[in-house]
Amino acid sequence: MYAPQRPYEEFAYSDAPVRDGFWASTVPAPDVLPVLEGDIRAEFAVVGGGFAGVAAALRLAEAGADVVLLDARDPGWGASGRNGGLVSIGSAKIDDLTIEKRHGRDDAAAFYAAERRAIEAVAERRARYGIDADVHSEGYTLAAHHPRAVSGLHAYGERYAQRYGLDYRFLDAADMRADGLNSPDFCAAVQLPLGCALNPLKMHRGLLRAACEAGVRVFANSGVERIAGAYTLHTRLGSCQASTLLIATNGYVSDDLPGHRHRVLPVQSNILVSRPLTDSEIEAQGWHSDQMVVDTRRLLHYFRLMPDRRLLLGLRGTVRASAESLATTRARARADFERMFPAWRGVETPYFWSGLIAMSRELLPFAGPVPGHVRAWMTGAYHGSGVAMAPYCGELIADSALGRRREPHPQFMQRTPAQFELGRYRRAVLPAVFAAYSALDRFGV
Ligand SMILES: Cc1cc2nc3c(=O)[nH]c(=O)nc-3n(C[C@H](O)[C@H](O)[C@H](O)COP(=O)(O)OP(=O)(O)OC[C@H]3O[C@@H](n4cnc5c(N)ncnc54)[C@H](O)[C@@H]3O)c2cc1C
Repeated sequence: MYAPQRPYEEFAYSDAPVRDGFWASTVPAPDVLPVLEGDIRAEFAVVGGGFAGVAAALRLAEAGADVVLLDARDPGWGASGRNGGLVSIGSAKIDDLTIEKRHGRDDAAAFYAAERRAIEAVAERRARYGIDADVHSEGYTLAAHHPRAVSGLHAYGERYAQRYGLDYRFLDAADMRADGLNSPDFCAAVQLPLGCALNPLKMHRGLLRAACEAGVRVFANSGVERIAGAYTLHTRLGSCQASTLLIATNGYVSDDLPGHRHRVLPVQSNILVSRPLTDSEIEAQGWHSDQMVVDTRRLLHYFRLMPDRRLLLGLRGTVRASAESLATTRARARADFERMFPAWRGVETPYFWSGLIAMSRELLPFAGPVPGHVRAWMTGAYHGSGVAMAPYCGELIADSALGRRREPHPQFMQRTPAQFELGRYRRAVLPAVFAAYSALDRFGV
């Protein structure tokens, strides 16, 4: 029997982490998609049905190609259908100066352009495919969790201004209160003009529908277990022979996929959602802004008051994937919620779930050829900011496979990502990294 080589406990790949998820309650039950049975052929085979895989398949189909998309579960079951819905820049985990130093100014500029285009493309897809995804927030807000982090806000705003020539707005504590962003946890903030927030599952459903309508043959519960030659993709009950292969499995990667061995480090991210808040509760806290907010912690929080007046709060920093660990992280999320919004200490938070994001050794996203293979591309490692970047990168590898370029595509993203030290045990570095981050966060440095 096939046993995928994956770095986490089986729990991370089960339904358990998303059993108490919120987004599924906002949409009808998904259409039942076929399972791949028997042997089929296609021009292009796409592995993974998150934002990246679906956008890649849609791009190919709209170019007139014959496309099959295979997902191990239901498309959207991964991070794409369970994230916080923040559409923003931030897909690299190194700062702009480091990118420029390592990769040169031209390639850095191509990356900045790519991140901006990725955000614009989200709005274009919504308009083009008529997707109603409960959009709110004008750009997003970065909030300082410590007085020492305030100077970093200015630096961040300046970097933003240098990248895009767009103004940022600085808010001190009084401005934050006036803007309906009142929390004892934050002393200042900057508002950045690009981006928004949305319901990711509605967004994914809309894209998937568009892909199906464009002629993509989508198969669910059809995990690719082995890829032979160039290329026969074997699933449990069938196979698909295709001349071109695209892989978009991100945090749900298995090391046995071509070109992926130890090159992607999945990391857990978690979200807590409250019941709808009443007018008086919102007034008591003084938090009524619909801005999407991210804080300056290294183990960052992301949070927003959604259009239905529920508070969504996301956090990172969980190492193990188990029922106990999920319960511990839920308690930590609840404690953070009560500290950040003390007037809501009595408010229930019935939804909590977690999922896998992905990092690369270079701390940059990748969208390039599969090493050692012809007519094969792969993408991933959006560092927890993939709502915009994952579909954009899906389109980049689709365009590469079609032999064309339509959008900014930095050279460094086309290189093969390095392998992590410690190979299959690479996640062992996380406890030390998280402990160091947590200490630095406490001191605001
Ligand atoms: C809790 C959480 C909160 C987040 N919040 C935000 C946010 O607010 N803003 C933001 O920008 N990003 C956020 N992210 C990150 C974002 O969701 C991801 O970067 C993005 O969805 C990645 O899309 P993807 O298509 O690459 O991967 P995924 O959506 O993870 O899809 C990968 C797919 O590959 C399939 N697969 C794996 N192996 C195989 C195989 N062998 N055969 C077939 N199929 C396979 C899986 O079943 C899965 O459906 C968050 C992520 C999480 C988990």
